[in-house]
Amino acid sequence: MSQQGTINVAVENIFPLIKKFLYSDHEIFLRELVSNATDATLKLKHLARIGEASVELGDQQIEIKIDKDAKTLSIIDQGIGMTEEEVQKYINEVAFSGAEEFLEKYKDTAKDSGIIGHFGLGFYSAFMVADKVEIITKSYKDEPAVHWTCDGSPNYTIEPADKEQFGTEIILHIAEDETEFLEESRVRELLTKYNKFMPVPIKFGTKTETLEKPEDAKEEDPAPTQEVDNIINNPDPAWTKQPADLEDEDYKKFYRELYPMQFEEPLFHIHLNVDYPFNLTGILYFPKMTQDLNVQKDRIQLYQNQVFVTDNVEGIVPEFLTMLRGVIDSPDIPLNVSRSYLQADGAVKKISSYITRKVADKLKSLFNEDREAFANKWDDIKIVIEYGMLSEEKFFEKADKFALYPTVSGDYLLWDELIEKIKPAQTDKDDKTVILYASNKDAQHAYIDAAQKKGYEVLLLDSPIVSHLMQKLETSKEKISFVRVDADHVDNLIKKDEEQLSKLTDEEKEELQKTVTETLEDSNYTVQVEPMSSDAAPFIITQPEFMRRMKEMQATGGGGMMMGQMPDMYNLVVNGNHELVQQIFNEKDAEKQKALIHQAVDLAKLSQGLLKGEKLTAFVNRSYEMIK
Ligand code: ADP
Repeated sequence: MSQQGTINVAVENIFPLIKKFLYSDHEIFLRELVSNATDATLKLKHLARIGEASVELGDQQIEIKIDKDAKTLSIIDQGIGMTEEEVQKYINEVAFSGAEEFLEKYKDTAKDSGIIGHFGLGFYSAFMVADKVEIITKSYKDEPAVHWTCDGSPNYTIEPADKEQFGTEIILHIAEDETEFLEESRVRELLTKYNKFMPVPIKFGTKTETLEKPEDAKEEDPAPTQEVDNIINNPDPAWTKQPADLEDEDYKKFYRELYPMQFEEPLFHIHLNVDYPFNLTGILYFPKMTQDLNVQKDRIQLYQNQVFVTDNVEGIVPEFLTMLRGVIDSPDIPLNVSRSYLQADGAVKKISSYITRKVADKLKSLFNEDREAFANKWDDIKIVIEYGMLSEEKFFEKADKFALYPTVSGDYLLWDELIEKIKPAQTDKDDKTVILYASNKDAQHAYIDAAQKKGYEVLLLDSPIVSHLMQKLETSKEKISFVRVDADHVDNLIKKDEEQLSKLTDEEKEELQKTVTETLEDSNYTVQVEPMSSDAAPFIITQPEFMRRMKEMQATGGGGMMMGQMPDMYNLVVNGNHELVQQIFNEKDAEKQKALIHQAVDLAKLSQGLLKGEKLTAFVNRSYEMIK
């Protein structure tokens, strides 16, 4: 007894529309259909558990089958099934209205390509790839099986079927231009992408398994084999379990499962688990970071009830944490909206700040549990933490408990420890605590050495965003300022109880300053004569902290001012108390005096790596002349 009907839709033919709107995302039909099969399976399991369905469940699995000759792809489940009445209701009415509603929404937001493409179109997404779809289904209730067919027009047929076993079989007659979905490798790729962690075992073909040789087998006998179901998913991924039931090894194993091409182990993990006021589970991993912020292939994956949605978690996870890896699973993230809406959504904001808090708490406990181990990992994780401190105020506040400031001599200090250590010795004339730092141990060696000789602590801050972080710290913390070791001579920087006695009078200083300036003839250098200790170098080149930092900040984005075109400006500090300087000052032969100044200044430039090209060659030649 066959019957026909017309699906009640406003548009004449909805299927070309479905195809058109979702052009780039055709592949998601499989995810949608496997999700439906999973839901149906879990529903029946639940009914059986509470005693509402008296059926023999058996090993409930979902099977995906390709028949290349018939050009069909089938999704077969042993789930709840549908009665004829239910097919009428759920497929012809509910599913269809769902599809229509979706198209309505999608039309308006199609330009804002973001997460919207991941909105579940449900059953009707089958028509993106098939020109005819059949459903053969039998409800777990003792009612006859039903065969529904629809060829992509609003017309469908329903007739009885002779299916014995409860469950549903969806048969897609793949369209001419979609034959990629008849390729085993393509279907396998999709199943691995979207269904790798779905909660019901998914069978796709069979595979050959090698068995143990029987006791009496001869040496040359091949080991026996058998064909077994090829299950492509892991229905119980680590994030769905309780942290207490998992060992460190389990987390590492799961990491390899997630990123089979990653050979480096993660540094540590954070298990997320919350059910109020929103639902969220997941595991985040801190990988070893490289300095290059752009290299990012393996990203955090977003799931909804174990169904893969996207690996673009922008807007859901705070930006600084998108450098991490792992999985987030939440049914509470609205996916049928644009990214800009997502960012403004209250629930999503809560999720984002929950994740930030969890990460901060984990870092704090790792620090407390084993400070040495944490310090050893610092260089690999600092970029994430520093970035987080810059971009998330809440994280910045918490970071005092675990953010480390390494010194050139290899100590890793917390902020409070650092300040306590350098106070009051490193205080400037404005009573600010001066934090000396180096960005390159080798290039700034001479300056580091000079500062250390004075008993000052020097930090080693070398990540690319550190100039931004210093500015943030300077504006957030009381009375501190960062100064790179080569920014100014330490004697000028730090307030001394006793002034250095000058061997030159003020007039003499002025005269020397004039002579050096005229000899140099270089407007990028500002000459300054200072009475410094006699063991400090005679000529020292420094670059003003402000200028250098602005340039650095601009190079890494931000900073505001247009410093890019500015020439590099330097200070040339002449140590008036140094023997050589005295000698130069007292030299009566003007030519000789000039030669001495050039030679000494070139030496100072050389130690800063500022002497290059023609000037370097001239310096070398002049030096040979002198030692001849
Ligand atoms: P959604 O899954 O979002 O409800 P769909 O369009 O995918 O929307 O499906 C509509 C309805 O059809 C489902 O809610 C379900 O009741 C029914 N259905 C779809 N697929 C199956 C299946 N494999 N087994 C049983 N019922 C199904």
